[in-house]
Amino acid sequence: MKQFCIAVLLLGLTFSSRAKEGMWIPSLIKNLVESDMQSMGMKLSAEDLYNFNKSSLKDAIVHFNGGCTAEMISDNGLLLTNHHCGYYQIQTHSSVENDYLTNGFWAKSKEEELKNPNLFATFIIKIEDVTKKVLANTRDGMPEAKRQAIIDSTIKVIGKSAVEGTHYEYIIRPFFYGNQYYMFLTEKYNDVRLVGAPPSSIGKFGFDTDNWVWPRHTGDFSMFRIYADKDNKPADISDDNVPYKPRYSLPINMNGTKPGDFTMIYGFPGRTSEYLTSYAVEYTIKKQNPNRIKMRDISLDIIGASMKTSDKVRIQYAAKQSRIANAWKKWIGQNKGLIANDAIAKKQELEKRFLANANMSIPKHGLKYTKILNKFEVLYKEIEPYAFSWDMFIEIYYYGPEVIRFAMNFNKLNPEKLKPEDLEKTLEGLKKSAKGHFKNYHDATDQKLLGAMLKQYLSVLDETKRAAIYATVEDDFGGDYEKYAARLFKKSNFTSLEKVNAFLDKYKGEKSFKKIQKDPAYKLCMSLYNNYQKNIRPELVRLNNELNLLNRTYMEGLMTLLPKDKKYYPDANSTLRIAYGKVDGYEPKDGVKYYPFTTTEGILAKKDTTKEFTVPKKLVTLIENKDYGQYADSDGKMHVCFIASNHTTGGNSGSPALNGNGELIGLNFDRTWESTMSDIMFDPTICRNIMVDIRYVLFIVDKYADSGHLVEEMNLIK
Ligand code: ASP
Repeated sequence: MKQFCIAVLLLGLTFSSRAKEGMWIPSLIKNLVESDMQSMGMKLSAEDLYNFNKSSLKDAIVHFNGGCTAEMISDNGLLLTNHHCGYYQIQTHSSVENDYLTNGFWAKSKEEELKNPNLFATFIIKIEDVTKKVLANTRDGMPEAKRQAIIDSTIKVIGKSAVEGTHYEYIIRPFFYGNQYYMFLTEKYNDVRLVGAPPSSIGKFGFDTDNWVWPRHTGDFSMFRIYADKDNKPADISDDNVPYKPRYSLPINMNGTKPGDFTMIYGFPGRTSEYLTSYAVEYTIKKQNPNRIKMRDISLDIIGASMKTSDKVRIQYAAKQSRIANAWKKWIGQNKGLIANDAIAKKQELEKRFLANANMSIPKHGLKYTKILNKFEVLYKEIEPYAFSWDMFIEIYYYGPEVIRFAMNFNKLNPEKLKPEDLEKTLEGLKKSAKGHFKNYHDATDQKLLGAMLKQYLSVLDETKRAAIYATVEDDFGGDYEKYAARLFKKSNFTSLEKVNAFLDKYKGEKSFKKIQKDPAYKLCMSLYNNYQKNIRPELVRLNNELNLLNRTYMEGLMTLLPKDKKYYPDANSTLRIAYGKVDGYEPKDGVKYYPFTTTEGILAKKDTTKEFTVPKKLVTLIENKDYGQYADSDGKMHVCFIASNHTTGGNSGSPALNGNGELIGLNFDRTWESTMSDIMFDPTICRNIMVDIRYVLFIVDKYADSGHLVEEMNLIK
């Protein structure tokens, strides 16, 4: 019995030392987690990870288009990121004749690499704690709005002086709910060209069925190249540009990993909310997630059916469908995980301890922390209807029928705001954006989206929060939203390129703007927008200011009153971070244990005739012949994906997975479904990130795509 207890204890110890919660600011690694990382297998020092004075790993890490992460993998500016991160660019270069989404794309020489207007790649030059400077002119008890205004203007002054005389830009963000501020000096490159992408049957293998799922067999990668001017400085897209020479590019480890090996993820995690109260978590689980899932159920059904009708629509809606489906499936998983983990009860238990310590700390801190949870409770009741209206507004306006957002563009012609001398330029701009908009637009699909989504949107809102368009549909169309949508699409000038161009060609200033104001699509967008501006926003802003103060104080309280609960790390906010863990399987449910690797055998096992699990013929042959070249594991198999216990989130897509020597072993692209709750609560026993093995990436580039010349650019460590 005694031996058994010791064994269990040891097991518990090894387990908890493997799973690591936290996303750390690279410049703070030394003091916070360097020794822990080293004890888990990191052979490097904190200075190797981040160094302002000489090149370090951070110089290979790229913020890709402000959303995903990417990394430098050659001294010639070759950049690796996910297929799903380059998806929009791959789609943009695709047509029915040249369908790169279906067939893949590989530039055989630099001349064939494809330019991408508006795509950019950002490096971090320096990270600096500017808390004292940012907060210098604020004081406790100041009204929140005033405090924020002071902070905003101070940030501008600090940032401007930091980049003066350089070509750098700056970002200053709050951390720990505004208890701290950090500045990031950045260098941004605007000429980033598409080099290669596998077919979606590799890069997106398993599509929505496999998204957020383990075991996984997706080769989720694409390659780009950064170009610079002759002095290696950022430059606008130009044929005169040359491949960028990075300060550092990642060596690539060819030996693979085994369970228990150290891993770290270096990248730009987007957003987490680890310190929410039970009230906020309850809102997410019971109201926010179910309602936004429902909105997306509707849009995904409609878009999915349309995409099956023609290749043209399939290509037009590929990136939109993915964007909508990705979060939709994540929220479903997140709710499952939070409920299964009793997240609300766990938060309540934490709050009980917080309150007990707050009461004990009165002699030291006065009443600062004692009333805060009560205040949260009251405030959440007040803010919820407004927060919910905003959440639903996002779904209809940003992820719903595009005709609404498109019509909004024409507000630029409002004579109250437009100077007469700017009219011509504005008309030209609108024509240009119309051309882009209609390239990926199918009116019948959008009409269906409008009918179904507007109905759902208005039905879930409280009467006092509904836009006036509700009365129009009820009174003039008997509540028939399909009829309303059909009429709008018939009458509006904003539903086809021909109609828009014809209207703009005849545009005559104020008189024509009156026509816009009568356009049913414009009326709809204005109704939704004005409702938000008048009925929702002012109260939401006021209450959010109160909430900011509570969140800031609560965060400070957690760190002060419960210092031993955990090593506190700031929530993700799209700034550079490092997470670390170990290659490790997990037990998703009773009786099931997941192994941390998959191999190409699993690709053939999943293969069927549906679009989601089609396997390209050439890949089948390579696998059947075990023609893996130098990319096979020492076990003779071709490893495809692996999982580890690194704490990641959206934005970490495309992040390098590095071994203890800082060598590239994989490309992060996802989390398991059970892990999606980690944005709110990290459970070390089940939260795992998913990576594609770098050797599978190179195998596809070399053996499948016959692009071995790219592999030759890289520094392979055997
Ligand atoms: N696949 C994810 C995403 O695109 C990455 C993650 O959240 O772990 O957002």
